[in-house]
Amino acid sequence: MLQKTSHFMKTANLIGGEWVQSDSGDTIDVTNPATGLKIGTVPKSGRAETKRAVEAAAEAFKSWRKTSALERSKLMRKLHDAIMDNQDSLAELLTMEQGKSLTEAKGEVGMSAAYILWYAEEGRRTYGDAVPSPWADRRILVTKEPVGVIAAITPWNFPSSMLARKIGPALAAGCTSVVKPASQTPYSGLAWGVLAEEVGIPKGVLNIVTGSASEIGDELCENPLVRKITFTGSTEVGKVLLKKAADTVKKVSMELGGNAPFLVFDDADVDRAVEGAVAAKYRNSGQTCVCTNRFIVQAGVYDEFVEKLAAATRKLKVGPGLEEGTQQGPLIDEKAVEKVEEFIEDATAKGGKVVSGGKRHELGGTFFEPTVIRDATIDMKFTKDEIFGPVAPVYRFEKEEEAVEMANDTIYGLASYFYAGDLGRVFRVMEGLKYGLIGVNEGIITTAEAPFGGLKQSGLGKEGGHQGIEDYLDTKYICIGGLGL
Ligand code: ADP
Repeated sequence: MLQKTSHFMKTANLIGGEWVQSDSGDTIDVTNPATGLKIGTVPKSGRAETKRAVEAAAEAFKSWRKTSALERSKLMRKLHDAIMDNQDSLAELLTMEQGKSLTEAKGEVGMSAAYILWYAEEGRRTYGDAVPSPWADRRILVTKEPVGVIAAITPWNFPSSMLARKIGPALAAGCTSVVKPASQTPYSGLAWGVLAEEVGIPKGVLNIVTGSASEIGDELCENPLVRKITFTGSTEVGKVLLKKAADTVKKVSMELGGNAPFLVFDDADVDRAVEGAVAAKYRNSGQTCVCTNRFIVQAGVYDEFVEKLAAATRKLKVGPGLEEGTQQGPLIDEKAVEKVEEFIEDATAKGGKVVSGGKRHELGGTFFEPTVIRDATIDMKFTKDEIFGPVAPVYRFEKEEEAVEMANDTIYGLASYFYAGDLGRVFRVMEGLKYGLIGVNEGIITTAEAPFGGLKQSGLGKEGGHQGIEDYLDTKYICIGGLGL
Protein backbone atom coordinates (compact mmCIF):
# COMPACT_ATOMS: atom_id res chain seq x y z
CA MET A 1 0.00 0.00 0.00
CA LEU A 2 1.24 3.46 -0.88
CA GLN A 3 2.09 5.52 2.20
CA LYS A 4 3.27 9.09 2.84
CA THR A 5 6.81 9.87 3.98
CA SER A 6 5.55 10.80 7.47
CA HIS A 7 4.08 7.32 7.86
CA PHE A 8 7.61 5.87 7.92
CA MET A 9 9.13 8.50 10.22
CA LYS A 10 9.00 6.67 13.54
CA THR A 11 10.39 8.40 16.60
CA ALA A 12 10.61 5.34 18.87
CA ASN A 13 12.56 2.10 19.33
CA LEU A 14 11.00 -1.13 18.15
CA ILE A 15 11.42 -3.76 20.87
CA GLY A 16 9.48 -7.02 20.83
CA GLY A 17 6.89 -5.52 18.51
CA GLU A 18 6.26 -2.41 20.65
CA TRP A 19 7.27 1.12 19.69
CA VAL A 20 8.82 2.51 22.88
CA GLN A 21 10.84 5.51 24.08
CA SER A 22 14.15 5.31 25.95
CA ASP A 23 13.92 4.55 29.67
CA SER A 24 15.14 8.03 30.56
CA GLY A 25 12.92 9.74 28.00
CA ASP A 26 16.07 11.35 26.54
CA THR A 27 16.19 11.92 22.81
CA ILE A 28 18.65 12.72 20.02
CA ASP A 29 17.92 15.44 17.45
CA VAL A 30 17.97 14.50 13.79
CA THR A 31 18.79 17.29 11.33
CA ASN A 32 18.48 17.75 7.60
CA PRO A 33 22.04 18.36 6.34
CA ALA A 34 20.75 20.49 3.45
CA THR A 35 19.14 23.04 5.78
CA GLY A 36 20.78 22.39 9.13
CA LEU A 37 17.27 22.31 10.61
CA LYS A 38 15.95 19.73 13.03
CA ILE A 39 13.50 17.31 11.47
CA GLY A 40 12.68 15.29 14.57
CA THR A 41 14.03 13.22 17.43
CA VAL A 42 14.67 9.55 18.21
CA PRO A 43 15.19 7.85 21.59
CA LYS A 44 18.60 8.10 23.22
CA SER A 45 18.73 4.52 24.45
CA GLY A 46 21.49 2.68 26.25
CA ARG A 47 22.30 -0.77 27.63
CA ALA A 48 19.01 -1.56 29.37
CA GLU A 49 16.84 -1.01 26.28
CA THR A 50 19.34 -2.95 24.15
CA LYS A 51 19.32 -5.87 26.59
CA ARG A 52 15.54 -6.03 26.36
CA ALA A 53 15.72 -5.93 22.59
CA VAL A 54 18.20 -8.84 22.60
CA GLU A 55 15.93 -10.81 24.93
CA ALA A 56 12.93 -10.11 22.70
CA ALA A 57 14.93 -11.32 19.70
CA ALA A 58 15.99 -14.47 21.58
CA GLU A 59 12.36 -15.19 22.47
CA ALA A 60 11.20 -14.63 18.88
CA PHE A 61 13.99 -16.89 17.60
CA LYS A 62 12.34 -19.89 19.25
CA SER A 63 9.48 -19.85 16.77
CA TRP A 64 11.06 -17.97 13.82
CA ARG A 65 13.75 -20.64 13.43
CA LYS A 66 11.02 -23.22 12.97
CA THR A 67 9.27 -21.46 10.08
CA SER A 68 10.00 -22.99 6.70
CA ALA A 69 12.38 -21.36 4.26
CA LEU A 70 9.47 -21.02 1.85
CA GLU A 71 7.32 -19.24 4.43
CA ARG A 72 10.12 -16.76 5.17
CA SER A 73 10.75 -16.31 1.47
CA LYS A 74 7.11 -15.39 0.87
CA LEU A 75 7.17 -12.80 3.67
CA MET A 76 10.37 -11.37 2.25
CA ARG A 77 8.84 -11.08 -1.19
CA LYS A 78 6.02 -9.09 0.40
CA LEU A 79 8.63 -6.93 2.09
CA HIS A 80 10.30 -6.36 -1.27
CA ASP A 81 6.99 -5.30 -2.81
CA ALA A 82 6.18 -2.98 0.11
CA ILE A 83 9.56 -1.25 -0.33
CA MET A 84 9.06 -0.79 -4.07
CA ASP A 85 5.46 0.43 -3.63
CA ASN A 86 6.80 3.10 -1.29
CA GLN A 87 10.08 3.82 -3.06
CA ASP A 88 9.33 7.54 -3.45
CA SER A 89 8.35 8.11 0.19
CA LEU A 90 11.25 6.09 1.55
CA ALA A 91 13.65 7.94 -0.76
CA GLU A 92 12.33 11.30 0.39
CA LEU A 93 12.84 10.31 4.03
CA LEU A 94 16.37 9.18 3.20
CA THR A 95 17.23 12.43 1.43
CA MET A 96 15.79 14.50 4.28
CA GLU A 97 18.07 12.96 6.88
CA GLN A 98 21.10 12.04 4.76
CA GLY A 99 21.34 14.75 2.11
CA LYS A 100 21.95 12.71 -1.07
CA SER A 101 20.00 13.56 -4.22
CA LEU A 102 16.54 12.11 -4.57
CA THR A 103 17.72 10.18 -7.63
CA GLU A 104 20.45 8.50 -5.59
CA ALA A 105 18.08 7.92 -2.68
CA LYS A 106 15.60 6.17 -4.98
CA GLY A 107 18.46 4.08 -6.29
CA GLU A 108 19.45 3.13 -2.75
CA VAL A 109 15.89 2.15 -1.81
CA GLY A 110 15.71 0.08 -5.00
CA MET A 111 18.96 -1.58 -3.98
CA SER A 112 17.49 -2.38 -0.55
CA ALA A 113 14.55 -4.07 -2.23
CA ALA A 114 16.95 -5.98 -4.50
CA TYR A 115 18.85 -7.40 -1.50
CA ILE A 116 15.60 -8.51 0.13
CA LEU A 117 14.45 -10.24 -3.06
CA TRP A 118 17.84 -11.87 -3.57
CA TYR A 119 17.86 -13.32 -0.06
CA ALA A 120 14.22 -14.33 -0.34
CA GLU A 121 15.54 -16.57 -3.12
CA GLU A 122 18.89 -17.59 -1.57
CA GLY A 123 17.25 -18.56 1.73
CA ARG A 124 15.66 -21.49 -0.05
CA ARG A 125 19.02 -22.80 -1.18
CA THR A 126 21.06 -23.13 2.02
CA TYR A 127 21.86 -26.72 1.20
CA GLY A 128 23.76 -29.06 3.46
CA ASP A 129 25.51 -32.28 2.38
CA ALA A 130 25.05 -36.00 2.60
CA VAL A 131 28.67 -37.16 2.58
CA PRO A 132 29.80 -40.66 1.49
CA SER A 133 30.62 -42.39 4.74
CA PRO A 134 33.87 -44.30 5.45
CA TRP A 135 31.86 -46.60 7.77
CA ALA A 136 29.40 -49.18 6.42
CA ASP A 137 26.88 -48.70 9.25
CA ARG A 138 27.06 -44.94 9.75
CA ARG A 139 25.85 -42.01 7.72
CA ILE A 140 27.20 -38.46 7.59
CA LEU A 141 24.96 -35.41 7.33
CA VAL A 142 26.02 -31.78 7.23
CA THR A 143 23.26 -29.26 7.97
CA LYS A 144 23.00 -25.48 8.04
CA GLU A 145 21.03 -23.77 10.78
CA PRO A 146 20.44 -20.12 11.72
CA VAL A 147 23.05 -18.82 14.19
CA GLY A 148 20.42 -17.21 16.43
CA VAL A 149 20.19 -13.55 17.43
CA ILE A 150 22.32 -11.28 15.30
CA ALA A 151 23.22 -7.64 15.96
CA ALA A 152 23.72 -5.11 13.17
CA ILE A 153 25.32 -1.67 13.47
CA THR A 154 25.15 0.56 10.40
CA PRO A 155 26.51 3.93 9.21
CA TRP A 156 24.84 7.09 7.90
CA ASN A 157 26.03 7.02 4.28
CA PHE A 158 23.66 4.25 3.11
CA PRO A 159 21.11 4.17 5.93
CA SER A 160 18.69 1.92 4.06
CA SER A 161 20.74 -0.49 1.94
CA MET A 162 23.41 -1.23 4.55
CA LEU A 163 20.61 -2.60 6.72
CA ALA A 164 19.09 -4.50 3.80
CA ARG A 165 22.33 -6.44 3.37
CA LYS A 166 22.14 -7.55 6.99
CA ILE A 167 18.39 -7.87 7.61
CA GLY A 168 17.99 -9.73 4.29
CA PRO A 169 20.24 -12.72 5.00
CA ALA A 170 19.21 -12.74 8.68
CA LEU A 171 15.50 -13.07 7.86
CA ALA A 172 16.17 -15.61 5.14
CA ALA A 173 18.39 -17.78 7.33
CA GLY A 174 15.87 -17.77 10.18
CA CYS A 175 17.81 -15.48 12.52
CA THR A 176 16.28 -12.67 14.57
CA SER A 177 17.94 -9.25 14.77
CA VAL A 178 18.70 -6.25 16.91
CA VAL A 179 19.65 -3.32 14.78
CA LYS A 180 21.29 0.00 15.62
CA PRO A 181 21.10 2.59 12.85
CA ALA A 182 23.48 5.57 12.83
CA SER A 183 22.30 8.49 14.96
CA GLN A 184 22.56 10.96 12.04
CA THR A 185 20.17 8.88 9.89
CA PRO A 186 17.95 6.75 12.11
CA TYR A 187 14.67 7.18 10.25
CA SER A 188 15.56 5.03 7.26
CA GLY A 189 16.51 2.33 9.78
CA LEU A 190 13.31 2.68 11.80
CA ALA A 191 11.33 2.54 8.53
CA TRP A 192 12.40 -1.12 8.25
CA GLY A 193 10.38 -1.74 11.40
CA VAL A 194 7.26 -0.17 9.92
CA LEU A 195 7.65 -2.20 6.74
CA ALA A 196 8.31 -5.45 8.60
CA GLU A 197 5.22 -4.97 10.76
CA GLU A 198 3.05 -4.22 7.77
CA VAL A 199 3.98 -7.32 5.83
CA GLY A 200 3.43 -9.55 8.86
CA ILE A 201 6.94 -10.37 10.06
CA PRO A 202 6.31 -11.60 13.63
CA LYS A 203 6.98 -9.42 16.67
CA GLY A 204 10.53 -9.56 17.97
CA VAL A 205 12.06 -10.87 14.74
CA LEU A 206 13.35 -7.38 13.96
CA ASN A 207 14.17 -5.01 16.83
CA ILE A 208 15.56 -1.52 16.33
CA VAL A 209 17.29 0.57 18.98
CA THR A 210 18.61 4.12 18.55
CA GLY A 211 20.92 6.00 20.88
CA SER A 212 24.38 5.93 22.41
CA ALA A 213 26.68 4.05 20.03
CA SER A 214 29.11 2.85 22.68
CA GLU A 215 26.46 1.76 25.21
CA ILE A 216 24.37 -0.08 22.63
CA GLY A 217 27.51 -1.49 21.00
CA ASP A 218 28.87 -2.73 24.35
CA GLU A 219 25.66 -4.56 25.21
CA LEU A 220 25.45 -6.12 21.75
CA CYS A 221 29.06 -7.29 21.94
CA GLU A 222 28.94 -8.57 25.50
CA ASN A 223 25.50 -10.18 25.63
CA PRO A 224 26.00 -13.93 25.18
CA LEU A 225 22.58 -14.29 23.53
CA VAL A 226 23.91 -12.40 20.49
CA ARG A 227 25.69 -14.92 18.27
CA LYS A 228 26.83 -12.67 15.48
CA ILE A 229 27.80 -9.04 15.05
CA THR A 230 27.67 -7.44 11.64
CA PHE A 231 29.04 -3.93 11.30
CA THR A 232 29.53 -1.40 8.53
CA GLY A 233 31.56 1.68 9.43
CA SER A 234 35.07 2.87 10.13
CA THR A 235 38.04 0.53 10.58
CA GLU A 236 38.68 2.21 13.92
CA VAL A 237 35.27 1.29 15.37
CA GLY A 238 35.37 -2.11 13.66
CA LYS A 239 38.54 -3.00 15.57
CA VAL A 240 36.89 -2.00 18.86
CA LEU A 241 33.90 -4.22 18.12
CA LEU A 242 36.10 -7.15 17.06
CA LYS A 243 37.97 -6.99 20.37
CA LYS A 244 34.78 -6.75 22.39
CA ALA A 245 33.09 -9.59 20.49
CA ALA A 246 36.06 -11.86 21.25
CA ASP A 247 35.03 -12.45 24.86
CA THR A 248 31.90 -14.33 23.85
CA VAL A 249 33.45 -15.67 20.60
CA LYS A 250 30.76 -14.33 18.29
CA LYS A 251 30.76 -14.62 14.57
CA VAL A 252 31.70 -11.25 13.08
CA SER A 253 31.42 -9.62 9.70
CA MET A 254 32.97 -6.24 9.16
CA GLU A 255 32.62 -3.85 6.25
CA LEU A 256 35.20 -1.20 7.12
CA GLY A 257 37.05 1.69 5.53
CA GLY A 258 38.65 1.84 2.11
CA ASN A 259 41.19 3.83 0.13
CA ALA A 260 40.08 3.01 -3.39
CA PRO A 261 42.58 3.52 -6.21
CA PHE A 262 41.35 4.26 -9.73
CA LEU A 263 44.02 3.51 -12.32
CA VAL A 264 43.92 4.86 -15.85
CA PHE A 265 46.39 3.39 -18.34
CA ASP A 266 47.58 4.94 -21.58
CA ASP A 267 45.54 2.42 -23.59
CA ALA A 268 42.28 3.24 -21.77
CA ASP A 269 39.23 4.84 -23.33
CA VAL A 270 39.71 8.16 -21.52
CA ASP A 271 36.13 9.40 -22.02
CA ARG A 272 34.77 6.20 -20.55
CA ALA A 273 37.27 6.49 -17.69
CA VAL A 274 36.12 10.04 -16.95
CA GLU A 275 32.50 8.94 -16.91
CA GLY A 276 33.37 6.12 -14.50
CA ALA A 277 35.51 8.48 -12.45
CA VAL A 278 32.65 10.91 -11.86
CA ALA A 279 30.40 8.08 -10.68
CA ALA A 280 33.09 6.45 -8.55
CA LYS A 281 34.12 9.70 -6.92
CA TYR A 282 31.22 12.13 -6.56
CA ARG A 283 28.34 9.74 -5.86
CA ASN A 284 26.90 10.51 -2.42
CA SER A 285 29.24 13.56 -2.41
CA GLY A 286 32.21 11.20 -2.13
CA GLN A 287 30.91 9.73 1.11
CA THR A 288 31.04 6.01 0.39
CA CYS A 289 33.59 3.42 1.42
CA VAL A 290 33.99 2.42 -2.24
CA CYS A 291 34.45 6.00 -3.51
CA THR A 292 37.75 6.61 -5.29
CA ASN A 293 40.30 8.08 -2.91
CA ARG A 294 43.26 8.18 -5.33
CA PHE A 295 43.27 8.57 -9.10
CA ILE A 296 46.51 7.10 -10.45
CA VAL A 297 46.97 8.01 -14.11
CA GLN A 298 49.64 7.09 -16.66
CA ALA A 299 51.76 9.94 -18.02
CA GLY A 300 50.55 9.63 -21.63
CA VAL A 301 46.91 10.43 -20.78
CA TYR A 302 47.46 12.39 -17.56
CA ASP A 303 46.73 15.90 -18.86
CA GLU A 304 43.79 14.78 -20.97
CA PHE A 305 42.23 12.88 -18.05
CA VAL A 306 42.68 15.77 -15.60
CA GLU A 307 41.19 18.30 -18.02
CA LYS A 308 38.23 16.14 -18.92
CA LEU A 309 37.53 15.18 -15.30
CA ALA A 310 37.68 18.83 -14.21
CA ALA A 311 35.33 19.81 -17.04
CA ALA A 312 32.87 17.09 -16.01
CA THR A 313 32.91 18.20 -12.36
CA ARG A 314 32.14 21.79 -13.33
CA LYS A 315 28.90 20.53 -14.85
CA LEU A 316 27.75 18.69 -11.70
CA LYS A 317 24.75 20.41 -10.16
CA VAL A 318 25.25 20.91 -6.43
CA GLY A 319 22.13 21.53 -4.38
CA PRO A 320 19.63 20.28 -1.82
CA GLY A 321 18.87 16.62 -2.51
CA LEU A 322 15.14 17.22 -2.76
CA GLU A 323 15.59 19.81 -5.53
CA GLU A 324 14.98 18.64 -9.10
CA GLY A 325 18.18 18.05 -11.05
CA THR A 326 20.54 17.96 -8.06
CA GLN A 327 23.50 15.65 -8.59
CA GLN A 328 25.57 16.39 -5.51
CA GLY A 329 24.01 17.09 -2.13
CA PRO A 330 25.62 18.54 1.02
CA LEU A 331 28.15 16.71 3.18
CA ILE A 332 26.77 15.05 6.29
CA ASP A 333 28.03 17.67 8.78
CA GLU A 334 30.46 20.51 9.46
CA LYS A 335 33.16 18.13 10.68
CA ALA A 336 33.14 16.39 7.30
CA VAL A 337 33.64 19.75 5.54
CA GLU A 338 36.51 20.68 7.83
CA LYS A 339 38.21 17.37 7.10
CA VAL A 340 37.94 17.97 3.36
CA GLU A 341 39.36 21.49 3.76
CA GLU A 342 42.26 20.10 5.77
CA PHE A 343 43.09 17.57 3.01
CA ILE A 344 43.03 20.29 0.35
CA GLU A 345 45.19 22.65 2.41
CA ASP A 346 47.71 19.88 3.02
CA ALA A 347 47.83 19.03 -0.70
CA THR A 348 48.26 22.59 -1.93
CA ALA A 349 51.01 23.23 0.65
CA LYS A 350 52.86 20.23 -0.84
CA GLY A 351 52.56 21.28 -4.50
CA GLY A 352 49.11 20.02 -5.51
CA LYS A 353 47.17 22.30 -7.85
CA VAL A 354 43.41 22.77 -7.59
CA VAL A 355 42.01 22.46 -11.12
CA SER A 356 38.33 22.69 -10.25
CA GLY A 357 36.38 23.45 -7.09
CA GLY A 358 38.50 23.54 -3.97
CA LYS A 359 36.25 25.38 -1.54
CA ARG A 360 32.88 25.52 0.19
CA HIS A 361 30.01 25.97 -2.23
CA GLU A 362 28.28 29.35 -2.44
CA LEU A 363 25.10 27.66 -1.18
CA GLY A 364 26.75 27.68 2.26
CA GLY A 365 26.10 25.15 5.01
CA THR A 366 27.88 21.88 4.32
CA PHE A 367 27.74 22.13 0.53
CA PHE A 368 31.17 21.71 -1.09
CA GLU A 369 32.38 22.17 -4.65
CA PRO A 370 33.32 19.03 -6.58
CA THR A 371 37.11 19.27 -6.59
CA VAL A 372 39.98 17.99 -8.72
CA ILE A 373 43.61 18.33 -7.59
CA ARG A 374 46.45 17.57 -9.98
CA ASP A 375 50.10 16.78 -9.24
CA ALA A 376 49.22 14.74 -6.18
CA THR A 377 52.23 13.15 -4.46
CA ILE A 378 52.58 10.33 -1.97
CA ASP A 379 53.44 12.62 0.94
CA MET A 380 49.92 14.07 0.86
CA LYS A 381 47.29 13.07 3.42
CA PHE A 382 44.92 11.38 1.03
CA THR A 383 47.58 8.83 0.12
CA LYS A 384 46.91 7.14 3.46
CA ASP A 385 43.60 8.47 4.77
CA GLU A 386 40.04 8.23 3.55
CA ILE A 387 38.76 11.60 2.23
CA PHE A 388 35.03 10.86 2.41
CA GLY A 389 34.26 13.97 0.41
CA PRO A 390 34.09 15.25 -3.19
CA VAL A 391 37.83 15.68 -3.75
CA ALA A 392 39.74 13.87 -6.50
CA PRO A 393 43.55 13.87 -6.15
CA VAL A 394 45.27 12.76 -9.36
CA TYR A 395 48.68 11.03 -9.06
CA ARG A 396 50.93 10.31 -12.04
CA PHE A 397 52.78 7.11 -12.92
CA GLU A 398 55.00 5.87 -15.75
CA LYS A 399 55.09 2.04 -15.62
CA GLU A 400 52.36 -0.56 -15.05
CA GLU A 401 54.12 -2.24 -12.09
CA GLU A 402 54.57 1.12 -10.43
CA ALA A 403 50.80 1.76 -10.62
CA VAL A 404 49.88 -1.58 -9.06
CA GLU A 405 52.43 -1.04 -6.31
CA MET A 406 51.06 2.42 -5.55
CA ALA A 407 47.52 1.05 -5.59
CA ASN A 408 48.35 -1.70 -3.08
CA ASP A 409 50.42 0.50 -0.79
CA THR A 410 47.70 0.91 1.85
CA ILE A 411 46.32 -0.96 4.84
CA TYR A 412 42.97 -1.10 3.06
CA GLY A 413 41.69 -3.47 0.39
CA LEU A 414 38.06 -2.74 -0.36
CA ALA A 415 37.27 -1.34 -3.83
CA SER A 416 39.57 -0.59 -6.75
CA TYR A 417 39.00 0.40 -10.36
CA PHE A 418 41.12 0.43 -13.47
CA TYR A 419 40.71 1.37 -17.09
CA ALA A 420 42.82 -0.33 -19.74
CA GLY A 421 42.45 -1.85 -23.20
CA ASP A 422 45.05 -4.58 -23.61
CA LEU A 423 43.72 -7.95 -22.43
CA GLY A 424 47.06 -9.14 -21.05
CA ARG A 425 47.34 -5.97 -19.02
CA VAL A 426 43.78 -6.35 -17.79
CA PHE A 427 44.60 -9.78 -16.36
CA ARG A 428 47.99 -8.74 -14.95
CA VAL A 429 46.53 -5.77 -13.12
CA MET A 430 43.38 -7.61 -12.02
CA GLU A 431 45.50 -10.37 -10.49
CA GLY A 432 47.96 -7.88 -9.01
CA LEU A 433 45.43 -5.76 -7.12
CA LYS A 434 44.94 -6.82 -3.50
CA TYR A 435 41.33 -5.74 -3.31
CA GLY A 436 38.03 -7.46 -2.58
CA LEU A 437 36.21 -5.56 -5.34
CA ILE A 438 37.62 -4.63 -8.73
CA GLY A 439 35.86 -2.62 -11.42
CA VAL A 440 37.50 -3.13 -14.81
CA ASN A 441 36.39 -0.35 -17.15
CA GLU A 442 33.43 0.21 -14.76
CA GLY A 443 33.01 2.78 -12.00
CA ILE A 444 29.96 1.40 -10.16
CA ILE A 445 29.86 -2.32 -9.53
CA THR A 446 27.82 -3.05 -6.38
CA THR A 447 24.92 -5.44 -6.89
CA ALA A 448 22.98 -7.88 -4.70
CA GLU A 449 24.11 -10.86 -6.80
CA ALA A 450 27.84 -10.36 -6.10
CA PRO A 451 29.86 -10.75 -2.86
CA PHE A 452 30.78 -7.33 -1.49
CA GLY A 453 33.62 -7.20 1.03
CA GLY A 454 37.11 -5.95 1.71
CA LEU A 455 40.51 -7.57 2.18
CA LYS A 456 43.26 -6.53 4.62
CA GLN A 457 42.00 -3.96 7.16
CA SER A 458 38.87 -3.24 5.10
CA GLY A 459 36.96 -6.09 6.63
CA LEU A 460 35.93 -9.66 7.17
CA GLY A 461 33.19 -11.59 5.42
CA LYS A 462 30.99 -10.85 2.42
CA GLU A 463 27.60 -9.25 1.91
CA GLY A 464 25.54 -10.07 -1.16
CA GLY A 465 25.94 -13.02 -3.49
CA HIS A 466 25.33 -16.57 -2.31
CA GLN A 467 28.26 -16.01 0.09
CA GLY A 468 26.38 -13.31 2.04
CA ILE A 469 24.11 -15.72 3.91
CA GLU A 470 26.90 -18.04 5.11
CA ASP A 471 27.78 -15.91 8.13
CA TYR A 472 24.20 -16.21 9.36
CA LEU A 473 24.34 -19.98 9.37
CA ASP A 474 25.99 -22.53 11.62
CA THR A 475 27.29 -25.67 9.95
CA LYS A 476 26.62 -28.87 11.90
CA TYR A 477 28.06 -32.32 11.26
CA ILE A 478 25.84 -35.21 12.30
CA CYS A 479 27.05 -38.81 12.41
CA ILE A 480 24.27 -41.37 12.56
CA GLY A 481 25.63 -44.71 13.75
CA GLY A 482 24.45 -48.19 14.67
CA LEU A 483 22.37 -48.48 11.55
CA GLY A 484 23.12 -52.20 11.19
CA LEU A 485 23.45 -51.84 7.45
P1 ADP B 1 31.08 6.74 10.40
O1 ADP B 1 32.31 7.51 10.06
O2 ADP B 1 30.37 6.11 9.28
O3 ADP B 1 30.17 7.43 11.37
P2 ADP B 1 31.62 4.96 12.55
O4 ADP B 1 32.38 3.69 12.52
O5 ADP B 1 32.04 6.02 13.50
O6 ADP B 1 31.66 5.45 11.06
O7 ADP B 1 30.08 4.67 12.80
C1 ADP B 1 29.38 3.66 12.16
C2 ADP B 1 28.35 3.12 13.12
O8 ADP B 1 29.00 2.64 14.26
C3 ADP B 1 27.35 4.17 13.61
O9 ADP B 1 26.09 3.55 13.76
C4 ADP B 1 27.92 4.56 14.94
O10 ADP B 1 26.92 5.04 15.80
C5 ADP B 1 28.46 3.22 15.42
N1 ADP B 1 29.50 3.32 16.45
C6 ADP B 1 30.41 4.29 16.64
N2 ADP B 1 31.18 4.05 17.72
C7 ADP B 1 30.77 2.86 18.23
C8 ADP B 1 31.17 2.03 19.33
N3 ADP B 1 32.16 2.37 20.15
N4 ADP B 1 30.49 0.88 19.54
C9 ADP B 1 29.51 0.53 18.72
N5 ADP B 1 29.08 1.25 17.68
C10 ADP B 1 29.70 2.40 17.41
